[in-house]
Amino acid sequence: MSKKVIVLGECRDGSLRNVTFEAIAAGKTIAEGGEVIGVLIGESVSQYASELIQHGADKVLTAEDQMLKHSTSDGYAQAFLPILEKENPDAIIAGHTSMGKDFTPKLAARLGTGLISDAIDVSVAGGNVVFTRPIYSGKAFEKIISEDETIFATIRPNNIAPLAQDESRTGAVESMPVNITDIRTIIKDVVKKTSEGVDLSEAKIIVAGGRGVKSADGFKPLQELADVLGGAVGASRGACDADYCDYSLQIGQTGKVVTPDLYIACGISGAIQHLAGMSNSKIIVAINKDPEADIFKIADYGIVGDLFEIVPLLTEEFKKLSVST
Ligand SMILES: Cc1cc2nc3c(=O)[nH]c(=O)nc-3n(C[C@H](O)[C@H](O)[C@H](O)COP(=O)(O)OP(=O)(O)OC[C@H]3O[C@@H](n4cnc5c(N)ncnc54)[C@H](O)[C@@H]3O)c2cc1C
Repeated sequence: MSKKVIVLGECRDGSLRNVTFEAIAAGKTIAEGGEVIGVLIGESVSQYASELIQHGADKVLTAEDQMLKHSTSDGYAQAFLPILEKENPDAIIAGHTSMGKDFTPKLAARLGTGLISDAIDVSVAGGNVVFTRPIYSGKAFEKIISEDETIFATIRPNNIAPLAQDESRTGAVESMPVNITDIRTIIKDVVKKTSEGVDLSEAKIIVAGGRGVKSADGFKPLQELADVLGGAVGASRGACDADYCDYSLQIGQTGKVVTPDLYIACGISGAIQHLAGMSNSKIIVAINKDPEADIFKIADYGIVGDLFEIVPLLTEEFKKLSVST
């Protein structure tokens, strides 16, 4: 049965985040030929509306106000609830990002509906919308069917393939009236800790270092490899605790959850808490001098050896490939 699906878009640093397009693809599957409505909330977001349509949205609703410059659950709820009242959707999809994790549980509580969080796949079977999500730190997967009148879910970045951009697609863009009365959380300033470059949570390639990297300087060869591959650098908590790098790079149970196409783990033992953040990567390469290291149990390719010899060799080889192509 066709459905009406609302997809909440997310902009950051002057562009739409890729997870928005992945959420539209999920929305298309759920809609089964019905309408997919993109929603953009922020200070000046209507400029992104056509991109949503080119990636599959049928129409876009925008809610703009200078008080929505930064995402706060208070402000977003006040802008989003009138849209939900107007459209009465069968399903709402958002990204499982910092913003989504903050905003969606509160909104679900306001709507009195359940929330299926961190889904990595969605399909329709026997008339039901079925979400797949990892549980027990990624050791198992569960399939969930929502019994709520409105299906509400967040999707993990980098798992659902977005639709190809079609620049010939057109659709209506409607500006919604916004009446923000009270925002209890005031964001006065945003201080970025991560360096310029590829966003770790959306990176297709990650070169991650652990305690085996031994120092902050030890991360330099990893950064060089990441740069050659167009990827991002990540870290284990061991490396962050040892002050080799910033906690914003931490991957794992208490860090970021990533799903790149390629994850190169350098000097990381493979503790369960680290695996919780990266074990769903498509290809895992482990470099460790201990052949018994647990990381090799989940690696697709393993290199037993000293990372300080192997990483520069890989960088040189990839450099040659990028020059010859
Ligand atoms: C509640 C809780 C939450 C946690 N959350 C997280 C989390 O989110 N993320 C996380 O990562 N951890 C987390 N941890 C910590 C986790 O248990 C491990 O302690 C941590 O992942 C270990 O980091 P590591 O693999 O870098 O270090 P180690 O376990 O010390 O491993 C270092 C590895 O480097 C190898 N090595 C050393 N020198 C070289 C070399 N020259 N070349 C190649 N290999 C070398 C060694 O053989 C070893 O395997 C958490 C723990 C708890 C209790």
